[in-house]
Amino acid sequence: MTQAEQMSLVLLYTLNELGGGGRRRTVLKHINNGYWYKNDVNDAKGAKRPSEPKWQNNFSYERHHLVIAGYMKDGGDGNWIITEKGKGYLGKLIEQARNIPSDGKRLFTLEFYRKLFSAPLYTDGIALDEEDEEAHYIARLAVEDIEPAYVQDIFPNEPERKRNSRISGNRIIYPRDPSVAKRALGRANHLCEVNSTHVSFLRRNGHVLYMEPHHLIPISFTDYFGVNLDREQNIFSLCSNCHNQIHYGEKGGC
Ligand SMILES: [Zn+2]
Ligand SMILES: [Zn+2]
Repeated sequence: MTQAEQMSLVLLYTLNELGGGGRRRTVLKHINNGYWYKNDVNDAKGAKRPSEPKWQNNFSYERHHLVIAGYMKDGGDGNWIITEKGKGYLGKLIEQARNIPSDGKRLFTLEFYRKLFSAPLYTDGIALDEEDEEAHYIARLAVEDIEPAYVQDIFPNEPERKRNSRISGNRIIYPRDPSVAKRALGRANHLCEVNSTHVSFLRRNGHVLYMEPHHLIPISFTDYFGVNLDREQNIFSLCSNCHNQIHYGEKGGC
């Protein structure tokens, strides 16, 4: 990774850690918490702005590039802010940084490098990967009252813009909307779309069969498509057995 890429990584990572952005001063102070190998203690003063250490000037310069590339926003109010596009780029940079060979040149600190690996993937205090995340969302849906719904059978075919994401650990997480899943289950008449004779049980309210929503294209692929994948068109209604087989069964065994 080039020096510029590593600076971008540290900068975007910091903005995300600060909840999306902050004042320049706050951001640089955060980076100076041992993320960058040059810091106030061991770096020379800048040539252009002698009142500031050089590394701070360098980050300002890098920030300028990130704004032009659309990875950061120029709010004009002195705030440094990461954009949605920036979050996607950050995910790629983290991936790249984690694969720097052991003899490769790293300009960020070892402490920061460790962060890229040890960052747990948390949601609501639970470490998550994509499958855990889906299980979590199904559990939430399982206790909701679901009525047989009037379902439109024609879907608008226009793609929707991808939603706002958040980064948890090194993963970009896109929201899942339970009401979309409910409509998708309704469209399938609360039957298994692998085979409508598959047996299930009634949901708590006794009105419809229990089925689970499964995203055909995983939500985590959102950045490859650039559109919202949490759509009825991408959600299948599956009985628990079929759903678990897709995720945990032998591949190709369905
Ligand atoms: Zn699934
Ligand atoms: Zn089934």
